[in-house]
Formats: sequence, C-alpha cells, structure tokens
Amino acid sequence: MPTDYFEMMVTSIRLTPDERRSILDKRKKQCICDICPTYRECVRTEQGAGEAERAFCTVGGSACIVNEHECLCSTCPLSREMELSFSYYCTRGSEAQQRVREVIGLR
Ligand code: SF4
Ligand code: SF4
Repeated sequence: MPTDYFEMMVTSIRLTPDERRSILDKRKKQCICDICPTYRECVRTEQGAGEAERAFCTVGGSACIVNEHECLCSTCPLSREMELSFSYYCTRGSEAQQRVREVIGLR
C-alpha cells in the first residue's frame, strides 16, 4: 500500500473505476469533515441523505462551502496516514491542486 500521497496518485491512475470507487468510499468513511465548524449542512442537503460531500482532500473543493472557520483535517486519520500537507480542502481544492499551485507560486 502506498504511503506517500503522490505515490498513491500515480498508483490510482492504473486503477479500474470500481477500485477507485472503493477507495473513495473508504476515504469518505474516514473523513471527519462533518464535525468541522466549516462544514455546512447545505453539503448534506444538496447531495441528498447518505451521499454527503466528503473527502475534499481527494475530490477537490465543495461548491457549497465558501467561508472558512476552522479546519480539522490535521486531526483526521486519513491526513496522518497519507501525510497530507495542506488544509481547507473544501474551499482551496484537493491536496494535488494545492501542491501544484504551491509549485507554480499561486496560493
Ligand atoms: S483530510 Fe480533511 S478532507 Fe480529507 S478525509 Fe480527512 S477530514 Fe476529510
Ligand atoms: S476540509 Fe477542512 S475545513 Fe473543510 S470541512 Fe473538512 S475539516 Fe473542515
């Protein structure tokens, strides 16, 4: 199992759609966004019960969340497991998006 985030990204390119879905489902279960002050109920209601937006570090930002209050990502098991470096994925984009912006000097 890859432990580095970019190693994981490269590995994920070779995955089948079912394997990708399975990994995303696992990440959504690990995600603690729904207890974060920045998380908004509209995410839940717009997506319908049981399909709430989560795992923004992987899927990218939310169309619903716009105001930043606090980010709990650093305390999330997935963040520690994958050694993620950024935060506020719901408003600033996925780990990959934020890394690219940092490399090209756009923050
Ligand atoms: S790091 Fe943040 S966005 Fe990613 S799964 Fe954990 S709480 Fe959710
Ligand atoms: S990505 Fe961070 S700020 Fe956004 S809801 Fe999740 S824990 Fe909160």
